[in-house]
Amino acid sequence: MRTRLAPSPTGAQHLGNARTHLIAYWAARRAGGELVFRIDNLDSPRVKSWAIDQAIEDLRWLGIEWDGQPILQTDHESRYRQALATLTHGGGNLAYPCVCSRKDIAEALSAPHESRFRGEGPIYPGTCAGYRDGDAIPEQHHCWRLRVSDQTLEFDDAVLGPQRCNPARELGDFPITSKNGQVSYQLAVVVDDQSQGVDFVIRGNDLIASTFRQLDLSRHLGYPVPRYAHVPLVLGSDGRRLAKRHGDTRLSHYRECGVTAEAIVGWAAHSLGLIDTAEPQKASDLIDQFDWSRLPTRDTVMDTERLFGL
Ligand SMILES: [Zn+2]
Repeated sequence: MRTRLAPSPTGAQHLGNARTHLIAYWAARRAGGELVFRIDNLDSPRVKSWAIDQAIEDLRWLGIEWDGQPILQTDHESRYRQALATLTHGGGNLAYPCVCSRKDIAEALSAPHESRFRGEGPIYPGTCAGYRDGDAIPEQHHCWRLRVSDQTLEFDDAVLGPQRCNPARELGDFPITSKNGQVSYQLAVVVDDQSQGVDFVIRGNDLIASTFRQLDLSRHLGYPVPRYAHVPLVLGSDGRRLAKRHGDTRLSHYRECGVTAEAIVGWAAHSLGLIDTAEPQKASDLIDQFDWSRLPTRDTVMDTERLFGL
């Protein structure tokens, strides 16, 4: 097994991220596999340079050991360009230029068709989908959209079990570049996983819709499909994603307050059902306790303001 840590450098790592990173570490070591550390820093306006250094420091502090040097997406831009050219100019009518604004899309949908996936927004109505390879490319600002498949895609998730989705009906054609030509997160991740030999993707369950988009991309690019594990998130006591209203849940904050990495590791393992009590533990001492079948499928709802005696 070869999996990856891919902390987002658009902000600080919080408790929920820490737990996902620990799962990837335990799963890789338990399987005798490899763990690469990749920094998804293509999304340039949102990337914070301090967040890259801090993610490395946070993960080391937790006791997570990875293989090799951290890999920066920005060091490999030619790979993304190559894959993009296959999709946009490869002759398979796989993608098309789209000049629509958000407003155009909203107006084209008389009854906005929301995706069943939380937070995915309206399904693109196909306004620009009539383009065929070789047609004139519009002079206006445009992104490129992938023509997704109108058939049920399936995968067997290591945590959630069988998952299915018809991307055309449930997600819609999606951008593989921004309007200024930058390769999208979806495409960059697929290219990275393939070129880095990642065969097992471990990440939060808020990315299941992304996985179906990435399955379509892998198919079009002729890449092997990795295994997937979508792990439960940590939610605040109101059942919403961790945010400022739940208090400061950044790892750096706990560290500054004198909370030990062992306390956080013990909490993470306990909240995942891997150990019976939330005693402090070293990350490396829990490798043998890791078992996919013990992980809960539901998110963990908790009062983060009462943790670690703060
Ligand atoms: Zn369009």
